[in-house]
Amino acid sequence: MATLRFHAVKESLKRKSLEINESKRRSEIFGQNVFNELAMRQFLSKNALTSILEAIEKGSKIDRLLADHISIGMKEWAISKGATHYTHWFQPLTGATAEKHDAFFETIGDGLAIEKFDGSQLVQQEPDASSFPHGGIRNTFEARGYTAWDPTSPAFVYGTTLCIPTVFVSYTGEALDYKTPLLRALHAVDKAAVAICKYFDKNVRKVSASLGWEQEYFLIDNALANSRPDIVLTGRTLLGHSPAKGQQLDDHYFGTIPNRVMAYMRDLENECMLLGIPVKTRHNEVAPNQFELAPIFEEANLAVDHNSLLMDVMQKVAKRHDFKVLLHEKPFAGVNGSGKHNNWSLSTDTGVNLLSPGKTPMSNLQFLTFFINTIKAVQTYEELLRGAIASASNDHRLGANEAPPAIISVFIGQQLTKVLEELETVTKGKLSPKEKTDLKLNVVGKIPEILLDNTDRNRTSPFAFTGNKFEFRAVGSKANCANPMTVLNSIVAKQLLDFKKEVDNLIDEKSMKKDDAIFNVLREYIKTSRLILFEGNGYSEDWENQAKKRGLSNNKSTPEALKVRISKPVIELFDGLGVMNKVEVEARYEIEMEEYILHTQIESRVIGDIARNHVVPTAVRYQNILIENVTGLKTIYGDKFKAYAKEQLELIEQISKHIEAINSLVTKMIDERKTLNKNSDIGKKANGYCKKVKPLFEDIRYHCDKLELMIDDELWPLTKYRELLFTK
Ligand code: ADP
Ligand code: MG
Repeated sequence: MATLRFHAVKESLKRKSLEINESKRRSEIFGQNVFNELAMRQFLSKNALTSILEAIEKGSKIDRLLADHISIGMKEWAISKGATHYTHWFQPLTGATAEKHDAFFETIGDGLAIEKFDGSQLVQQEPDASSFPHGGIRNTFEARGYTAWDPTSPAFVYGTTLCIPTVFVSYTGEALDYKTPLLRALHAVDKAAVAICKYFDKNVRKVSASLGWEQEYFLIDNALANSRPDIVLTGRTLLGHSPAKGQQLDDHYFGTIPNRVMAYMRDLENECMLLGIPVKTRHNEVAPNQFELAPIFEEANLAVDHNSLLMDVMQKVAKRHDFKVLLHEKPFAGVNGSGKHNNWSLSTDTGVNLLSPGKTPMSNLQFLTFFINTIKAVQTYEELLRGAIASASNDHRLGANEAPPAIISVFIGQQLTKVLEELETVTKGKLSPKEKTDLKLNVVGKIPEILLDNTDRNRTSPFAFTGNKFEFRAVGSKANCANPMTVLNSIVAKQLLDFKKEVDNLIDEKSMKKDDAIFNVLREYIKTSRLILFEGNGYSEDWENQAKKRGLSNNKSTPEALKVRISKPVIELFDGLGVMNKVEVEARYEIEMEEYILHTQIESRVIGDIARNHVVPTAVRYQNILIENVTGLKTIYGDKFKAYAKEQLELIEQISKHIEAINSLVTKMIDERKTLNKNSDIGKKANGYCKKVKPLFEDIRYHCDKLELMIDDELWPLTKYRELLFTK
């Protein structure tokens, strides 16, 4: 009997929602467990506070002596919050967060003990790093790496541990994590953008990138999820026939949130508040049991940390509610997958969002400058942007007939398209005073009004302008946002540097006025950027053909999409900006390819195991029941039994065919794996897993799912889609 499945369903039906205590206002508890400015003011000396604030604002170094002061204050604060341990909290390239806890507790002889935490422990640690992915950067005899404090992301207490956000680098200084290149990219875009801002406002000193992520996820009863070996081991279902009812009624999206889910969300939001993660929006998503959570946007480095922390907290809180969170991009075939829109903008220390049109024509010209340069950056580096979001799990969305396509394009809406068309017609060279006035009054000057009713949003676009920000929608739900954010900020930085050169050149060599020069360069950009702008349906075949003609990349699988990351222009881009050197870029490529292979290999093993050890034996058992039945009919009816056993005989035959197909496909898959595993060329191996192993999943699944429809429900061992998705 399929006891695990029935036990799980029974358990899940018994669940009640937890009582959540929300006696305090959210604004009261917000940031309570964060070593924020308020806490620092309470626990730090004036000098220590000044140095840490300067480090945050200007990136200045913190003196070692002051680090000692800061560590003492931080420890006292953390202990007041119930912390007993501390850890350097970092984001290695595994995609998870890592931490190794040490107690503050220290003995001082004579049976005495104290709580201790000094500056050196705050600033730097040496975790045994040899088991984190490093892509060959560290050879075995130099297996050490170290973590170093990132004061721009505040420390926090989670549970009983003080967590200190850090970067993770090798002894030779190469980045081994997501944060290091992100910080470098943010620095690069800051410098490049400030230089452009000076054309418009001399007071600008700093430009920060903002990120607002929207996290989609599935919430499944824990017992049900645990009853499926594929979910436990791969985070998604590898088999399962779609239920009679899927998402076709569209009755889940923005519908009422079930009580149990609501209790989970409130509990999660409380935790987020304490940790200073400013979550604001929650709602149902399109698929059954799919939901979304979004915060108020923040400075990009902090937002990335908060998203990484959130993904961890989501799982922990889910345990209390007997739920399991599925962050996988495609946990269920036939219903929508999950993504993580990355809303991105740039803003100045003078309080201006550079992607939001202002009140004066001049501020609108500044807006247009950043708007058009971003589009141009995406056009030049579209393939790299695609590469930044490539993973085995995200391949199920991109390029698999689901939102959004693997082709990167930019949506800007009709009105802004018109603005660009008009700008494209400006005179080459110096503009007449009349043309300039006209332009400022009638084109640039009108932008804010235009944008007010810019409501046409194209949900199929992977990169869309939505009023005052760009929304990169192709990021996977499971991904660390640092990777796409590093790429996006880097390509915009590079583009802004190029732009400045071109404008300055026109000013210096052609003695053009600044505005004329800016208009002239933008006009040329608009012409070339046509290729990346697309307003139509991104899922259509027509677009695929058109995109091909335009020369846009359409890399549907991760091995194809990652290739560009080690191309010469990309290595030069990152190296030139100081974001990553060649060694770091190549190491990352290797790690991601390796991860793709391992991922696919594990899925292949799991599907082979389930098909052979769960599905086939069940099919045989059911077939035996049928055979017994046919034999019985024969004893009753003699030669005429066939008239009564037609269906049974048909089923017996079909079951045999499916069993045979499954067995031969699984054997074929194992053979393919064996051959590929001998291949030491990582590119060829990844490609082989993609082209030879992965397609067999679908074939195996087809036969298993057919059997699911045929076999007695009582016997079926795997929890079904309708149970996973519709148990409330
Ligand atoms: P959607 O309609 O796609 O669900 P919303 O308008 O609700 O999008 O916004 C989604 C996210 O965008 C939120 O996290 C929000 O904080 C963020 N966001 C809003 N403005 C900006 C901005 N200027 N820069 C970056 N993110 C922003
Ligand atoms: Mg969105």
